[in-house]
Amino acid sequence: MSLVGHNKLQQQLLDLVKKGSLPQTLLFYGKEGIGKKTFSLALVQGLFCSSAEKNAFEACGTCSSCVALSNDQHPDFFLIEPTGPKSASKTGAVVNASQKSIKVEQVQEIKSKLIHHPLMASHQIVLIDNADQLTVTAANSLLKMIEEPRSQQIFILVSGRLHKVLPTLRSRSAKYFFESLTPAQVSQVIQNTQSDLSSEQQEQIPGWAETFDGSVSAVLQALQASFSLEQVMGWLKPAPSFKDAQTRVSRLLESQLDLSLFLQALRSELLKQQKRDQSVDLNFFDALDAAERQLGRHLSKEQVLENLCLEQM
Ligand SMILES: [Zn+2]
Repeated sequence: MSLVGHNKLQQQLLDLVKKGSLPQTLLFYGKEGIGKKTFSLALVQGLFCSSAEKNAFEACGTCSSCVALSNDQHPDFFLIEPTGPKSASKTGAVVNASQKSIKVEQVQEIKSKLIHHPLMASHQIVLIDNADQLTVTAANSLLKMIEEPRSQQIFILVSGRLHKVLPTLRSRSAKYFFESLTPAQVSQVIQNTQSDLSSEQQEQIPGWAETFDGSVSAVLQALQASFSLEQVMGWLKPAPSFKDAQTRVSRLLESQLDLSLFLQALRSELLKQQKRDQSVDLNFFDALDAAERQLGRHLSKEQVLENLCLEQM
């Protein structure tokens, strides 16, 4: 697994591994979509790899440990991720990220497996992705585990929203901040992982990488999105008339629109304008907040966009 960026952190953790002083609970935080989970998986693979010349971030990829891990069959690795409501899994309903959570049963299940000693590696490693989505009971259950870990257990918590992680969990963890990726690094990650991009999409990568401040996941979504960067920029200026506002809204709605991503792009570009030039209309931030709330309350996309236009005029 080749990692892009986060070189300082790699070095820092390598030094700790070499000294045998890697903390037992690590909390990796920083913007969404910049490779925190990929980094964590590379670290796990490196720690488990039985190759003699290993460096904790350069696993061999061929030993039994590496193979087991890449087949999701390593007995000493446990991944906990948010899942949708139980009712949704029965009915097959589509669940968006905000409805997902890590439930206490998921933590309890891992707890029961951790009773055994490591079977293949020298450690058991638990990776908790989106640790900010632990329910309070799940977080408290996890807290009990990390307060009294056995010597061969390592917990890695990953979060894009540190402030939403239970404070007691935060304070018990060694925290590592992940810097955003540069546009060049975003391009590199995307070229490494996506082979089916058109040349037009490839040209759009640097622009979107600027807009989304180096978030690979946001750039990938934007490449599939039905709106362009020009459209985002256009929306930052008030529509000259009500009729123009209506045209603007209907153009955007012509194809399947990811409105949440569009609002995110607007906010990001607005922040950039504000950095360059203080004369940005601050009310537009309020209008964006309102639009996000309306989206959460399931107003139609058309209505949310119309309100946003009207707020600006
Ligand atoms: Zn290996």
